[in-house]
Amino acid sequence: MAKGRIIVDVDRCKGCGLCLAVCPNNLLELDQNNVNKKGYQPMRIHTPDKCIGCANCALMCPDVVITVERL
Ligand code: SF4
Ligand code: SF4
Repeated sequence: MAKGRIIVDVDRCKGCGLCLAVCPNNLLELDQNNVNKKGYQPMRIHTPDKCIGCANCALMCPDVVITVERL
């Protein structure tokens, strides 16, 4: 299985949640314990080890907040 890593530009996330629905492994959530500079709960990855680097999340994000690295 391919492995990947995402880098989230947390302070640019608007917490819209669009990326959450397209992760095949359901790895993404809005961070209930954090508020970014824009005042939103930003997206976080709760189990980074399971990221396969598919880039669905990055393609979905309207604000280009997510960068994907394939490992
Ligand atoms: S790259 Fe794919 S597997 Fe990794 S967090 Fe994004 S949607 Fe999920
Ligand atoms: S789609 Fe982009 S802006 Fe929306 S929650 Fe995900 S990372 Fe944040």
